Amino acid sequence: MPELPEVETVVRTLRPQAVGKRIAGLSVGRMRLRRPWRKSWTPRVVGQTIIAIDRRGKWIIVSLDTGRLLVHLGMTGQFRIHPSAAPLEPHTHIVFDLGATQLRYRDERRFGSVDYFADGGAIAKFLDARLGPEPFDLEPGPWRVSLAESRRSIKAVLLDQSVVAGVGNIYADEALFVAKIAPATPANAIRPAAAERLRRAVVEVLTFAIDCRGSSIRNYLDGTGEPGGYQNEFRVYGRTGEPCMTCGTAVTRVRLAGRSTHSCPRCQPVR
Ligand SMILES: [Zn+2]
Repeated sequence: MPELPEVETVVRTLRPQAVGKRIAGLSVGRMRLRRPWRKSWTPRVVGQTIIAIDRRGKWIIVSLDTGRLLVHLGMTGQFRIHPSAAPLEPHTHIVFDLGATQLRYRDERRFGSVDYFADGGAIAKFLDARLGPEPFDLEPGPWRVSLAESRRSIKAVLLDQSVVAGVGNIYADEALFVAKIAPATPANAIRPAAAERLRRAVVEVLTFAIDCRGSSIRNYLDGTGEPGGYQNEFRVYGRTGEPCMTCGTAVTRVRLAGRSTHSCPRCQPVR
């Protein structure tokens, strides 16, 4: 599933290709997305110019002259620029015609969505009801309070978008490894020094992953169709049975918070 670094990379690669372009036409496929596109939105969107593309958590916000599009990539979503003449790939659900190019939303498993909000302020309300701060804006004090108030595993807390927005399975495992914290540790058992180490590890891992342009596992591609590179940098994620890069102990995988969770039992001891 695309997480913060992948979504940020999509946004950064789409901006130079799409901002300033007018949406000359729009077509929608027959298969329904998790939240279906409403027919009444089409005439409101056609004719508008894309004025900005931004990210909040794992969401993409496309600002138009009036209103905004809110895009979530779900499990397998791709939001990419194609030459208009390029054949439509299977599972393409929405096509925004930009003239010589098209901005296409494609999603094999259809857990993603594209919504239109006529009122830009309604998007902020929608997102603020679901999302905590961006990891880069997470203050040490409120973060410690979030941990102290939860008996859930620290892995589950990192995945909770209302605590911190944008972290998913890959970067939770990677940050816990960097911070040397066992993923199953109850959040309220984490001492202040370790909480601060983890807060910094999340920022460090996400920053490096953005520099690497995200991770391409499954079918992730950026806004121009290029894969990411962080999958070559994984320290524990997807490395079950392989030696830990720090101590050589085999990386283990367990099911935690409903997700495959990877860690080094020696570097991340259960306390
Ligand atoms: Zn280790």
